[in-house]
Amino acid sequence: MDPEEIKRRFRARLVGNVIALLMVAPASFVIVEALRGNAAGLGVHSTFLIVAAVVLAVAAATFTVITWRCPACGFGFGFGLKVFPSTCPGCDARLR
Ligand SMILES: [Zn+2]
Repeated sequence: MDPEEIKRRFRARLVGNVIALLMVAPASFVIVEALRGNAAGLGVHSTFLIVAAVVLAVAAATFTVITWRCPACGFGFGFGLKVFPSTCPGCDARLR
């Protein structure tokens, strides 16, 4: 694959996964509040809200597992601290 195409695809995946992460933040808040027993404080439709939050969090995690990979070799970057690699640990392709 063309090196510029790899970088372009990596940027697209990066944007998608940052958006997924931003959606998980409020969902996590709702789930944590519910687990702490504060579900009533979340509003009248708290059950719906909690289910929606869990579905959203699972969907975002699934999206990340499927898409957060090297565009060249498919190496999964995972959820670790090396979330913004500059080169692929699997094939050494330049990603940025
Ligand atoms: Zn790779």
